[in-house]
Amino acid sequence: MKPRIYHTQSEEATIALGEALAAELPSKALVLLIGNLGAGKTTLAKGIVKGLKEGEPDDVSSPTFTLIHEYGSSVYHVDLYRLDTAAQVASLGLEEIFDRPAVVLIEWGERFPELMPKERIEIRLRSTGEDSREIEVSTYPETASRE
Ligand code: ADP
Ligand code: MG
Repeated sequence: MKPRIYHTQSEEATIALGEALAAELPSKALVLLIGNLGAGKTTLAKGIVKGLKEGEPDDVSSPTFTLIHEYGSSVYHVDLYRLDTAAQVASLGLEEIFDRPAVVLIEWGERFPELMPKERIEIRLRSTGEDSREIEVSTYPETASRE
C-alpha cells in the first residue's frame, strides 16, 4: 500500500483518525508511532484503542513511566522514550508481546530498529502548526506494485 497522508486540525480529529485507522489494522500488527514530543503519538494511540473497542481516550495515558500499558487483551501501548540502550529494551520482553495476536503501538521504537520486526506499520506525525498535524501511514515491507 502506498503511503497515505492525512491532516488534522485538532486533538479530537487525530483521535477520530486513530479510530478510522484501527478499523483497517490486522488483528496482529506492530505500529510504530514516530514523531517529536507533542506531535500527537499518544493522542493517535487513544483513537486506535477506542477504535479497537478496548478503552476510551481518557483511559489511555502516556506509558512513559510504566513503559508498557495493556488495554483489554488485544492492544499494547509501549513508550521507549526513557530507555537508552538496546539491552534495556531487550529486557522488557517485547518479543513475547510481538508474538501475541494483538495490536502493539510503540512510541520511540524507531530508535531501536534492530529490535523491531520488519513487518510493521509506521505512522509519522509532524506538527505543522499549533493545532495542525501531518500524519503519514506506511506499511512495510512495501508490497510490489504492478501499477
Ligand atoms: P506525543 O505522544 O507525540 O508526545 P501527545 O499526543 O502526548 O504527543 O500530545 C500532543 C499534544 O498536542 C496534546 O497536548 C494535544 O492536545 C496537542 N494537539 C494539538 N493539535 C493536535 C492535533 N491536531 N493532533 C494531536 N494532538 C494535537
Ligand atoms: Mg507520547
